[in-house]
Amino acid sequence: YQVPNWSGGWFRVSEKGRMEVTPSPGLHAPLRAIVDEIVERGESLPVILRFPQVIAGRVKQLNEAFQSAITEYNYSGHYQGVFPIKVNQRRVVVESVAAAGYDYAHGLEAGSKAELALCLAQKMHPDALLCCNGFKDDGFIKLALWGRTLGKNVVITIEKYTELDRILKQAKALGVRPAVGVRFKLHARGSGQWEESGGDQAKFGLNAYELLRVVERLKQEGMIDSLVMLHTHIGSQITDIRRVKVAVREAAQTYAGLIAAGADMKYLNVGGGLGVDYDGSKTTFYASMNYTVKEYAADIVYTVQEVCKAREVPEPILVSESGRALTAHHAVLIMPVVDVTGPTRDLEAQDLIVPDEDSHQIVKDMYDIMENITMRNYRESYNDAVGDKQTLHNLFDLGYVHLADRAKGEALFNAILRKIAKLIQSEKYVPDELEDLPKVLADKYICNFSLFQSLPDNWAIQALFPIVPLDRLSEKPTRQATLVDITCDSDGKIEKFIDLRDVKSTLTLHEPGEKPYYLGAFLMGAYQDVLGSAHNLFGKVSEAHVTVRPGGKFNIDLFVRGQKARRMIESMGYEEPMLRDAIEDQADAAIKVGTLTDEQEHELLEDYGEELLGYTYLEYEN
Ligand code: PLP
Repeated sequence: YQVPNWSGGWFRVSEKGRMEVTPSPGLHAPLRAIVDEIVERGESLPVILRFPQVIAGRVKQLNEAFQSAITEYNYSGHYQGVFPIKVNQRRVVVESVAAAGYDYAHGLEAGSKAELALCLAQKMHPDALLCCNGFKDDGFIKLALWGRTLGKNVVITIEKYTELDRILKQAKALGVRPAVGVRFKLHARGSGQWEESGGDQAKFGLNAYELLRVVERLKQEGMIDSLVMLHTHIGSQITDIRRVKVAVREAAQTYAGLIAAGADMKYLNVGGGLGVDYDGSKTTFYASMNYTVKEYAADIVYTVQEVCKAREVPEPILVSESGRALTAHHAVLIMPVVDVTGPTRDLEAQDLIVPDEDSHQIVKDMYDIMENITMRNYRESYNDAVGDKQTLHNLFDLGYVHLADRAKGEALFNAILRKIAKLIQSEKYVPDELEDLPKVLADKYICNFSLFQSLPDNWAIQALFPIVPLDRLSEKPTRQATLVDITCDSDGKIEKFIDLRDVKSTLTLHEPGEKPYYLGAFLMGAYQDVLGSAHNLFGKVSEAHVTVRPGGKFNIDLFVRGQKARRMIESMGYEEPMLRDAIEDQADAAIKVGTLTDEQEHELLEDYGEELLGYTYLEYEN
C-alpha cells in the first residue's frame, strides 16, 4: 500500500499491522481502535476521522520551512501564508488552521461573500492577512472594507480591471482606506491537472497593460499607497518544481516592475499550488510532486531574493495561498466493506461448469476450450471463448439454449478467463485485448459510502487517493478488488488506485472475515468535503474529531452526526409534516380497504419517522 511513500510521516503501519495516525513524534493511535470506539458508542459508519493535530503540524511545517529558508538566505522580508478556505470551510478545519497559524500570523483567503463573512468572524493575529479573491459586487467590497475598520488586515484583490472603480467608489462612500492587491496573469504555467489556471487564457487576472493602468489610476486618486500586494496563481497541485521557479521569477520581475512604476508594494503572493504526493512516487506524475515543502519554500525565497537584488528593490513579505497541502492529510474516510461479489467467487462450484450429456454443444465446446488452454494457445482460446459466449447468447435469444446451459456457459467463460489470467500473470507483454483481464475478474468490494459525496475528484478528474485496510496489514492480501459504492449509479465505483507513477485498476485486499473489514481513504481532507454532492440523497458523512494522546491513546473530542434523511429530503423543497401527512392519508385509506390494520399503521408511521431521522447510509446491526 506504499504507506511510507505517501504518508509524509503522518501515518504509519504498526508492528501489529495496523494503520496508525502519527501527528507528532511519540504520538500514535491505531485507526481501527478509534473506529471500534465509535461503533461501540452506537454510532453508524461511514465516518470521517479528522485529526486537528495533523493540520497544526502541516501549518507549522510550512511556516518553519519558509522561516528556515529566510534565515539561510538572509532574506530581509518574512513569510505570511493565507489559507484559502474554499479548500475546506469546515469549522474544525478553519479554526484549526487559524489557531495553529496565530503565532505565525497565518491568515485566511475568501473567494466569495459567504466565505468572507465566515473569515471576518475568525480570531486572527492583527498582522494576519485576509485576502479577498474572486469576482466581487458592491456588497462583497463593502464587507471587506468593514473588515478593515474591525482591525483586520483585509486586502481586496482586483481580479479584473473594472473592479478598481467599484472599490474606489465604495471606499469613498464608507470613508475607509482600502488595501488592494492585483492579480496578474503570468505567462508561466503550472504543471499537472490545473495547468490551464495560468497563462494568457486564465479566467482571472490582469495583463501587463491593465496592471500599469491600475498604478496610474491610483496615483491620480492619490491612493497609490493602497496598492500593497501582487498576486499570482498558476494552478493547484503543481507537480514540477521547475514550473514554480519559473512562475515565481516572472512574479518577482513583475513586482519589481510595479515598484519601478511608482507603486509602494509590500506583499508578493505566489498563490496556491503546493502539491500533495498522493501516490508517493515523488515525480511529476499528476498525482504526485517532485519536491518537498522545504524545497518549495527555499526556491521561492531564493528566486525572489535574486530578482530583488538584481532590480534593486526591497524584498517583499512573501505570501502563499497553500490550501491542499495544509489540509489533505488531516482527514480519513472510513468505509466498511458490506459485501463482496465478483465473477470468480459467486458461482465457483466446479459442478456448474462440467457439462453433462444433455448440455448444449456450445457448452461442451467451451468446456473443451477451458480444458486445453496452454501458454501457446491462450490468445486463440480467449478469442474462441469470446466468440462462443456471443453465440451462446444469440442461441439463448432464439430459444435454442435454456437458462441452465446459459448459466453453465457463462460460468465456463469466467473459468476460462481465470485460467488465462493465472497463466499470464507474470508475463511482461500482455496482448491488448487481455489488458483489462485483472479488472474484469476482480472482486467488487461493496463499500458503505457514496463516491459522489466523499471522493468526488476520483469520479470527476481521476484524482487518486491512497486506500488501505485499517488492519490485518501483516497478513498477505489475496484478492484483487475494485470498490463500488452504494449509490444507484454505475459510475459510483473506484477502479483507479495509486501505483507509483501509474494508475492501477485493482486494489489487493484481504478476504473479509467474521470481523468487520474497514478501508480508509487517505489524504482526502482538501476539496473533497466541499465538492461532494448529494447524489441519491446520500448526505454528509458523520465525523469524529480526534486528538491523539501519549501512550497510544486518543480522545474523540467531538462526534458530529451525518445528515439525516429528513434534511436531505427537505433540501429538495419538501417539508417533513407534508411527508408524514401524505403517508398517514395513504395508511388510512389502506385500513379502509383492509391491507393494513390499525396496529400496523402505528408501527408503519413509527418506522417511517425513524427513517426520516436516520442516517442516509446503510445501517447494519454490529
Ligand atoms: N489561491 C487561488 C487563487 C486558487 O485558485 C487556489 C486553488 O486553485 C488556491 C489558492 C489553493 O491552491 P492549493 O490548494 O493548490 O494550495
